[in-house]
Amino acid sequence: MTKKLRNYIDGQWSPATSTFEARNPANDQVIAEVADSGPAEVDAAVAAARAAFATWRHVNPSVRARYLHAIGDRVKARESELAQAITTEMGKTIGEATGEVDKLAKAFHFYAEEASRVHGEVIPNDVDGFHSLAVREPIGVVGAITPWNYPLELVGWKLCAAVAAGCTIVVKPSQYASLSPVLLFECIDDAGLPGGVANLVLGAGAAGPALAAHAGLDKLAFTGSTATGNTIARNVPRAMPLTMELGGTCPMIVTEHADIKAAVTGAARRGFRNAGQICIAINRIYVHRSVYSDFVDGLTSAVAALRAGNGMDPAMDVGPMATRAGVDVVEAHVKDAVAHGATVTTGGDRIPELAPGYFFEPTVVAGCTPEMRVMCEETFGPVVGVMAYDDLADAIAWANGTESGLAAYVYTQDLRQAHDLGRRLDFGNVAVNNVDAGIMNAPYGGRKGSGFGVEHGKAGLEGYLQHKHIRIRYGAE
Ligand code: NAD
Repeated sequence: MTKKLRNYIDGQWSPATSTFEARNPANDQVIAEVADSGPAEVDAAVAAARAAFATWRHVNPSVRARYLHAIGDRVKARESELAQAITTEMGKTIGEATGEVDKLAKAFHFYAEEASRVHGEVIPNDVDGFHSLAVREPIGVVGAITPWNYPLELVGWKLCAAVAAGCTIVVKPSQYASLSPVLLFECIDDAGLPGGVANLVLGAGAAGPALAAHAGLDKLAFTGSTATGNTIARNVPRAMPLTMELGGTCPMIVTEHADIKAAVTGAARRGFRNAGQICIAINRIYVHRSVYSDFVDGLTSAVAALRAGNGMDPAMDVGPMATRAGVDVVEAHVKDAVAHGATVTTGGDRIPELAPGYFFEPTVVAGCTPEMRVMCEETFGPVVGVMAYDDLADAIAWANGTESGLAAYVYTQDLRQAHDLGRRLDFGNVAVNNVDAGIMNAPYGGRKGSGFGVEHGKAGLEGYLQHKHIRIRYGAE
């Protein structure tokens, strides 16, 4: 039976007046009938969050922490069910989906601990008899709009940090991933979080724009494409804090001093996990000419060995892409590269045997040049472009030469190069000799066209707090 997914507003499950169908990208079958909310549902959710904020902002941080721990425990207890929901709705392999749920549970516990570490300072005055207290208070009602590629973690980072800080929140997840957020909100409900503190509004059409333009918000936290982020930034109803985690096309530089085997392993992992649909996926690789053919041969073999299929099958390395439109972009990038003289060394096509699923072969395109789309636009699929360089300064210029500023990768065993590239690459995250640029307790964010503001770590909580100066004259001589 098709599941019916509803909104969660003020602690109650409620339908919207219309619905849309959600499909499984591995086989194009309908998996759920989803509430397609509009301005009325968004108004109701923002009003519930506003009402709840009056109380939640003053709830003792240790109590907020208890709720967050309780939700984290419930997420972990339902790990397998939540992971299956992710794989069914957006296609990533069940192993990766299970990892995502585990990290979500950890985010709840991390921010539960951080809740009680928000403190201020006492600032000296230039006259006696005064105390200046600098304290931090929650910002207020948060709107959160998220994409489908990490459907739980990207909701979780916002929700955990906001709720820990004493804010209340309205979440609008992607229309391509409504099922796993509904299960997360079941965990929230089960943990007894007071009604209105966290609200869920589902929708494919008007819900996102209605939330992004809602005058009742005190902050908007958005993760998604650069194009949508720019639209939202132009339409916010008034000056207010924004966090923008946007898209990018992430470069990797492999120098003549790299451990080539490690670089190949890193490129295969960060280029093809989640079928390349990661904001920090390696998209374009610049390799020193002296090690270029070793690297291309190694990467071609590693990628040719990846098995593509339904992500529910644990033997698969790469699942379907989440949307048909995504497959079209990937195909266009490969065709553009080939038309301009590049060579496909493995993959290069859709996978007709797996139709009607949205599959594309894991693909390496070698002999690229900087103008090719795969080397300067976000491909967001299972394709990487590779080109040779002679002068490291050129590789740095190409790496920095797009609007993208989210993450860059370097492989070198030369300490001077490691530090120099860490400094010169104009990205919010630079990973050297590893490809895991985002960890839970370090700040994670982009710059340039990839947005601003950070999530993760203590810095991720700061974005939900505002400063207050309380200056007290107590009259001592
Ligand atoms: P998207 O921009 O199409 O959609 C993101 C969300 O915005 C969805 O919930 C969507 O319904 C909503 N939305 C769409 N138009 C809107 C509008 N006009 N007003 C308000 N909301 C609107 O992105 P996507 O395809 O879901 O996700 C892929 C993109 O997200 C990629 O570009 C990827 O790089 C980026 N991303 C960035 C990060 C990061 O941390 N920087 C993380 C994950 C994904």
